[in-house]
Amino acid sequence: MKVVVDYDLCEANALCMKAAPEIFRVEDDDTLTVLIDNVPDDLKEKAQEAARLCPRQAISYE
Ligand code: SF4
Repeated sequence: MKVVVDYDLCEANALCMKAAPEIFRVEDDDTLTVLIDNVPDDLKEKAQEAARLCPRQAISYE
């Protein structure tokens, strides 16, 4: 499962980081870093929760 972020939509409010800090990190300069490109099975639930919580629907998976 590959993480896809639409950076044009992302507003760096860090809700994804709260749901899945292993995968998403919002930097001090308000940019989002994806820490794991391919989500392992044990993080899939957290990854889906992060996508669900994103108010901008900026996160999807392939
Ligand atoms: S929850 Fe969505 S808008 Fe917020 S930082 Fe994450 S990807 Fe960006």
